[in-house]
Amino acid sequence: MAKNLNLLRNIGIMAHIDAGKTTTTERILFYTGREHKLKEVHEGEATMDWMDQERERGITITSAATTTSWNVQEKEKNGKVVERKYQINIIDTPGHVDFTVEVERSLRVLDGGVVLFCAVSGVEPQSETVWRQADKYGVPRICFVNKMDRAGANFLNVVQEIKTKLGADPLPLQIPIGSEDAFRGVVDLIQNKAFIWKDEDKGKEPEEVTIPADMEELVNQYRQELIERIALEDEQLLEKFYDNPASITAAEIVYGIRKGVIGMSFVPVLCGSAFKNKGVQALLDAVCAYLPSPLDLPDTQGTTLQGESITRKASNSEPFAALCFKIATDPFVGKLAFMRVYSGMLDAGSYVYNTRSNQRVRISRLLQMHSNKQNPIKQIEAGDICAGTGFKDLKTGDTICDEKNPILLESITFPDPVVGIVVEPKKKSDIDKLAIALSKLVEEDPTLRVETNQETGQTILRGMGDLHLEIIIDRIRREFSVEVNQGEPQVAYREKLTRAKPHREIYKKQTGGRGKFADIQFEIGPVVDEELQKKKGIVFINEVKGGNIPKEFIPAVQKGFELSMKSGPLAKYPIDNMQVRLIDGSYHDVDSDSLSFELCAKVAFREAAKEAGPVLLEPIMRVEVVTPKEYMGQVTGDINRRRGIIQGMEMKGELQIIKAEVPLAELFGYINTLRTFTSGRASAVRTFSHYDVVPKNIADEVITKNN
Ligand code: GDP
Repeated sequence: MAKNLNLLRNIGIMAHIDAGKTTTTERILFYTGREHKLKEVHEGEATMDWMDQERERGITITSAATTTSWNVQEKEKNGKVVERKYQINIIDTPGHVDFTVEVERSLRVLDGGVVLFCAVSGVEPQSETVWRQADKYGVPRICFVNKMDRAGANFLNVVQEIKTKLGADPLPLQIPIGSEDAFRGVVDLIQNKAFIWKDEDKGKEPEEVTIPADMEELVNQYRQELIERIALEDEQLLEKFYDNPASITAAEIVYGIRKGVIGMSFVPVLCGSAFKNKGVQALLDAVCAYLPSPLDLPDTQGTTLQGESITRKASNSEPFAALCFKIATDPFVGKLAFMRVYSGMLDAGSYVYNTRSNQRVRISRLLQMHSNKQNPIKQIEAGDICAGTGFKDLKTGDTICDEKNPILLESITFPDPVVGIVVEPKKKSDIDKLAIALSKLVEEDPTLRVETNQETGQTILRGMGDLHLEIIIDRIRREFSVEVNQGEPQVAYREKLTRAKPHREIYKKQTGGRGKFADIQFEIGPVVDEELQKKKGIVFINEVKGGNIPKEFIPAVQKGFELSMKSGPLAKYPIDNMQVRLIDGSYHDVDSDSLSFELCAKVAFREAAKEAGPVLLEPIMRVEVVTPKEYMGQVTGDINRRRGIIQGMEMKGELQIIKAEVPLAELFGYINTLRTFTSGRASAVRTFSHYDVVPKNIADEVITKNN
């Protein structure tokens, strides 16, 4: 029987590291009945963190999708109460900032998010990053203020920060009863009832109590605000609000909240303590009540093989289309492709079409994942998420679809790697094993690349940060049993031309027999058109008249220049974009051919590019440091020494937040140094910002080293 899509939720839990994402996920699995014993994170046993090193590091690096279900009692219009079973797919979103790409990839396939905050530390710099990403992907969300039991917990403070720091419109749905040690439960503003959770049954059965007298005023105030705010979401509710606000029922409030969440006009805020087993069931109810089902979202956009736009509805009767958002290697079943199905159905064992590779792919089994346990299913339907196995050649970001109705879904964009390290096996005999390991890891992680240096033959591993590469090396050792030697991390510099340079190149080899001849006149330099400057690649303008260079040779000229961009004139770093205006030229009836013109362009590039004002560019990172006040001078002094530019400073309680832009080249090992001179009390997050020109003296050093 087809699934009722209204009862499906694809959600992600987004949080700053340490806000309690792992603990909350554990509790969700406990209450939803899939886990029978509560596991604590500090025992290193969390179900979602199934990779060894994640356990050791205590952070969640890769996203896995877990399926679970939650029964909700819902009152129908006629007053009858029915129990409905919701299916919830939790897509794990990693919190570590070197892995923001993983976060973006999960956001692409989720329908709604739960954003966790710590009741003590509130909105942290990294919560802002994740919030902005969720905005970018238009993900409706609800907030959960966790750790209400901790000393210093302050619910309304966090609500205020959601407004001021994130620019969002927070709408509390609960008011905590007690705080810190005394936190016991919440007043539910919708039902206007108070509930407490007891320690004896691990919070399984909430108990209704009377609203504490000293809370009545606060509860009334927030309940009024809630009703007023949701009335604005719907005309009928607004009318009722003006006639008689008291006549608005709990069901109508729920309806108004749902509408506001899906329309992204406000974010409901709940609270609790995952660790103390308080508030998680109410959070699950809220996920089902307010976050969108696949049917609530706009139709999925895609293009046909001919490039025309088409859309697909979240319906089983449409042709099959799915996006592979993660390739993972599982020790038991081999390679898994996590896919989000946007339309249609797929039976295990059937063939699909891979739009990227233009090939048929057989998906032999379909598995619904419960962390590291798998549940085979016969069929996957529109809107759902599962993992497929037994395929050949699927990559993260691939669209798979019905063979007769091909579609290309908008893929996920991944930034280019900014750091590289040379790797080699410690034992010569491990060369093949290392090659296999690297090719598997690259398949899983689209921000990881492997290159061979043509001159030295060395293998270079490229990624998004030193920590990213460190974790990969660690996996090579653990999962593939290869010990590797690694070089110092190297910055991925780029080169750029800054002024136009006219040039004529004549390429001639005419000694006996059939020779080679090409003659081109052109101007090479930076891209002029502002829109095109943002894109990668060559802007090639052909102004040759009267067939002075025959048409069939023009693409060869372009190809010669294009290939040359891989190795810039200063220090052989790639050039992102440049412009070539081909003005004139000549040819020889017998000796000229495409190859002559391609070679001519290559020689011409070598001669002309070095005269076109080439400069070296380096990646600049956005750095946000949180430090106790007393280390502020040292932290800023250190940032200045690293050629950093302070962008802003902000106080937060006893802590100072420093935002800066610092060249990546100066940041290797930064986190350790920072920890050392602040006795482990400061922390920093780094994200890629942009490429900028390297100062001359430093550029000269890099150039000399590379020549
Ligand atoms: P993550 O990094 O967001 O996955 O956070 P974890 O779930 O690993 O939690 C970080 C730490 O906070 C762990 O030591 C948890 O035991 C603790 N923690 C999580 N939730 C709560 C809570 O509600 N109250 C308190 N006091 N501690 C919590």
